[in-house]
Amino acid sequence: MRVLVYGAGQLAQMMYLAAAPLGVIVSAVDVATETVVNPVSKKPTGVSLRNAIQNSNAITVEFEHVPEHLLLDADKSGKLFPNVASILTGADRVREKALLIKNDIPNCDHVIINHIDQLDGLVAKLGEKVIFKASRDGYDGYGQWRMSSKADLVGLREKFSLLDLEKVPLIAERMMQFDREISLVGARNKEGEIACFSLAENLHHEGQLHVSVAPITNHNDALQKKANEIFEKLASALDYVGVLAVELFQCGDELYVNEIAPRVHNSGHWTQQGCSTSQFEQHIRAVLGLPLGSTELIGVSAMVNIIGCSSFSRDLIGIHNAHLHWYGKEVRVKRKMGHINVVAKSHASLGEKLIHLTEFLPLEHFPKLVGEASRLEKS
Ligand code: ATP
Ligand code: MG
Repeated sequence: MRVLVYGAGQLAQMMYLAAAPLGVIVSAVDVATETVVNPVSKKPTGVSLRNAIQNSNAITVEFEHVPEHLLLDADKSGKLFPNVASILTGADRVREKALLIKNDIPNCDHVIINHIDQLDGLVAKLGEKVIFKASRDGYDGYGQWRMSSKADLVGLREKFSLLDLEKVPLIAERMMQFDREISLVGARNKEGEIACFSLAENLHHEGQLHVSVAPITNHNDALQKKANEIFEKLASALDYVGVLAVELFQCGDELYVNEIAPRVHNSGHWTQQGCSTSQFEQHIRAVLGLPLGSTELIGVSAMVNIIGCSSFSRDLIGIHNAHLHWYGKEVRVKRKMGHINVVAKSHASLGEKLIHLTEFLPLEHFPKLVGEASRLEKS
């Protein structure tokens, strides 16, 4: 069987690697050149996009910002999963908010800004601490601006007056005082069956994910159940097929949806070693109409992103149950280069292993690691 993935980055690469044991061949589409490539070598396969669509049993995406005309073209084959509406919803915060509101799912207070004059009444509506997000094409904290007091509005107004807000509105969101960020990654198949992974706890730095831990510390069934219900509501409303990630803010016992990602997700990479079935294999299973795999835990996992650096000691794989996943990209500031998964028997022993891991890494590139390791060690 064959699966065609739009987008040729690390997520397509990891889908390729997870699909191979099932006898499924994954090809990727470089959407800039519309070329079909091998997801690992990135070399053109020599097959035209038209033929690749025809030869595939399923077509999917590794990111939501695939040009719409390509999605619509792929959709004509009847083999695109998740469906176009789901992908477009994940790519556009205005659509995303509408979905959350329609399904009565708690999310952050916000105002959709499509005219600069709307900045006038904003503080009265949302307070002084506000985060502005471009409604399209943002990721890893790009396309975001923060206001910490009214005085910032002057500079922001200047910046925003250069944008075409009618074409790409901004979402102004109240800054949440959350206890922590968590995410739920799960899958839904064509029969509507759902399998959710354990909640992951996510640490960000400058708007970018650095460390995930799963299951979350102080895991409780009620919180997992609440998150699973949100997932089910969203996935069913979208008639979703494949892996879907839901980013959440936890405030006490309440969960607020930050955003959704209609694809495999960085906060689900821990499943490669920490779960019976990885999110990548699960996505391939779902889009091909194969039975979903078990989401049973193998242990307690951490996923540590390697961001903006390539010089570290590969000997880190000598740590018991530590695994390196390298994407083979050229180094750039803030670029995700790879990740390390570590599995342990408890949060405390995971903390010990992460402390050991710090010996192998240039810590200036891992600003969250030491703090998280010692927090876990004490848990
Ligand atoms: P991603 O890489 O996940 O696609 P993104 O750039 O699309 O990220 P968000 O996930 O919306 O954007 O925001 C990035 C981070 O900024 C969040 O993980 C969170 O740490 C912080 N953040 C976003 N919205 C809020 C908010 N309303 N209140 C407080 N913090 C927020
Ligand atoms: Mg996010």
